[in-house]
Amino acid sequence: MKLNEFYPKTLIEPFRIHSVEPLRFTTRAERQKALKKAGYNPFLLSSQQVIIDLLTDSGTGAMSSNQWAGMLASDESYAGAASFYRFEAAVKDIMGFNHVIPTHQGRGAEHILFSCIAKKGDIIPNNNHFDTTRAHIENNGAQALDLVVKEGRVPSLVLPFKGNIDLDRLEMLLAEQGRNRVPAILLTVTNNSGGGQPVSMDNIRQTGAIAKKYHVPFFLDACRYAENCYFIKTREKGYETSSIIEIAREMFSYADGCTMSAKKDGLANIGGFLALNDDTLARRCRNMEILVEGFPTYGGMAGYDMEAVAKGLYEALDEEYLSYRIRSIASLGEKLALAKIPIVKPTGGHALYVNAAEMLPHIEPLQYPAWSLTNALYLLGGIRAVEIGSVMFGMQPDGTEKPAAQELVRLAFPRRVYTQSHIDYIAEVLTCLNEQKEVLRGYRIVSQEPVLRHFTARFAYLG
Ligand SMILES: *Cc1c(COP(=O)(O)O)cnc(C)c1O
Repeated sequence: MKLNEFYPKTLIEPFRIHSVEPLRFTTRAERQKALKKAGYNPFLLSSQQVIIDLLTDSGTGAMSSNQWAGMLASDESYAGAASFYRFEAAVKDIMGFNHVIPTHQGRGAEHILFSCIAKKGDIIPNNNHFDTTRAHIENNGAQALDLVVKEGRVPSLVLPFKGNIDLDRLEMLLAEQGRNRVPAILLTVTNNSGGGQPVSMDNIRQTGAIAKKYHVPFFLDACRYAENCYFIKTREKGYETSSIIEIAREMFSYADGCTMSAKKDGLANIGGFLALNDDTLARRCRNMEILVEGFPTYGGMAGYDMEAVAKGLYEALDEEYLSYRIRSIASLGEKLALAKIPIVKPTGGHALYVNAAEMLPHIEPLQYPAWSLTNALYLLGGIRAVEIGSVMFGMQPDGTEKPAAQELVRLAFPRRVYTQSHIDYIAEVLTCLNEQKEVLRGYRIVSQEPVLRHFTARFAYLG
């Protein structure tokens, strides 16, 4: 037959839906009432009042029929459960480390690792520390130092690997401080706090070489390891024909261990682990694990959680899935660019960030433009996003307020949950909002807590 080749333009989800969870639609009037009752704080809304929930990609993914099947066949023995050995085998196969220490989620791994290696006066570098990582390092009296490349701090720049660590500054730090003050080097893949931007294989390899040169252990914060590998495949020379799992194995081969939240690229709703090679450190970490998480063959997880993670870690490496996920977020970015809505470029692995400072220049930073945009998104379309701006970061330790460096609205995408028509709907709501953005006004805080105020503060609209 003389049929031409068919190259589809439609992005189709690489799954069909087997079990559905109805969306609850609300009217504008219902949302107006709900938001007012929540003190104009989307964190205080119930999920039943939200149509599309983009608050976080953590633990919000949909599991596969294969994962559910594994959960039913779990072994809930306290010690030596078969589910643990399946989980351990998956981690060893993909990540290649000798010791696998299960934890209830990512911060459990951070708690164990940093209480074993960090002490007062130490410095721990990273591209950008995630908030819980920073908090655990600081809780042990050490300093969490961000060394992302300078391009990583410029939202408008389109570059392939804006999550890279600045190798010159890293080497300078080690030459000056040596291993006595730097107990570990960290690298977060992808760089969550830096807009979900990836780290190149070359940067990971060179970080590993610096770590070896100065005899300092090197840990990957591997929460989004699969998304990072996909970016390496599609953006870095030499990896075009490698499979994602081959890229993952190479990436982990340069490190001495990793911390992992299985709520991200573990495609599970809960779980995590610490994995490492050093026998002595592993023994100390297991002693700490027993104290704070649980027996070493379950950590903080049920047998069925370990089954879900064991399968999820492989499913996250599926190229069709990764391509749909990254393309679908990129396609939203393209639609917003057409509507002249300013976003952080390029779009990241798990989220898209709208630049509210640029979109709403008529709202003063301390009247919280990104907060205003977040609330307007909810009112207009029932979409819940999160402010990353002066409400989150503006409060200073001395009680004064200072505008944050950026005013962003983060749309984080749960894995395998929303389809392309949901994405199109989000683009439509944002476009409609952008056309009437002049009417938006700022907010004033009515009541707040001294720390992490964004979770509970209540607001009044200045319109
Ligand atoms: C989510 C996350 C963590 C912490 O994991 P939890 O499972 O939320 O405790 C650590 N680092 C990064 C980069 C993360 O995204």
